[in-house]
Amino acid sequence: MLLQLGEEAKLLAGGQSLIPLMKLRFASPKHLVDLNFISGTSYIKEENGALRFGALTRHAEVEYSASAAKLPILHDCASGIADVQVRNRGTIGGSLAEADPSGDWATVLMTLETEVRCLGTKGERIIPLPEFIRDAYTTALLPDEVLSEVIIKVPPLTMEGDVCKEAAIVLGCVGLTPIKSNDAETALRGQRITEKAISAAVESARAAADPQSDMRGSAEYKRTLVGTLVKRAIEIAVQRAGGKQVEVSHIYA
Ligand SMILES: Cc1cc2nc3c(=O)[nH]c(=O)nc-3n(C[C@H](O)[C@H](O)[C@H](O)COP(=O)(O)OP(=O)(O)OC[C@H]3O[C@@H](n4cnc5c(N)ncnc54)[C@H](O)[C@@H]3O)c2cc1C
Repeated sequence: MLLQLGEEAKLLAGGQSLIPLMKLRFASPKHLVDLNFISGTSYIKEENGALRFGALTRHAEVEYSASAAKLPILHDCASGIADVQVRNRGTIGGSLAEADPSGDWATVLMTLETEVRCLGTKGERIIPLPEFIRDAYTTALLPDEVLSEVIIKVPPLTMEGDVCKEAAIVLGCVGLTPIKSNDAETALRGQRITEKAISAAVESARAAADPQSDMRGSAEYKRTLVGTLVKRAIEIAVQRAGGKQVEVSHIYA
């Protein structure tokens, strides 16, 4: 249908980004191609050390999934999105396809090894998430392609005693795309997680952030907030790596 209808057509998933844009007249597609009627597009499967999410899987389905809860950051992300209504309609595939700089999924999934499967008239492509998100509201999807699946590799244990073996720190809403702070990760990798190591990671994360002043706050405020949230996230991640269950919302660790 996309091929037949051309550029005047838009795919509709949960409609939680597209419909508000249409109501504001920022988008006026001539045709909507509704993905909701295609069966078998909403699922969560565990296979060969990976979690696979059908593109139409709703945020709420991830929130309540026992499989997804094995990676607490997935549960935190899903449960922290907006309100019940939005979580019941919005989809993981729609969120990645939208590539909104303030969307939560792209940032969270970039801390993990994530790939997206794209289906088009010429076959399918599997694209690593950092290559899929090209810019604000811009992805690697071709005009005749649909994002069909999100594949997340389950990471190995990342602490050995009190030494951090692996860390991933990605900052959302402080740049046009999610920002992976390699320096902040290096400050933790192979280190005992002391106040000093955390401070070094926090400073690197603050330096990596590229916030803009807007109605949500000044750039300076957002950079300060990055420091506070990265510190909290590291502390929660350390507790979880030690086997403790920590409930959080909108602080992803
Ligand atoms: C009040 C409100 C608050 C919100 N708060 C948050 C929040 O706190 N955090 C957050 O992350 N998000 C938030 N959102 C956005 C929400 O998560 C959306 O559900 C999500 O961004 C888009 O998913 P969707 O399934 O609704 O996509 P849609 O709105 O249906 O589509 C979005 C775009 O992606 C394209 N698309 C959709 N699915 C596919 C696919 N499978 N393949 C290719 N292209 C596709 C569509 O053509 C469209 O261009 C909020 C939305 C609202 C209305």
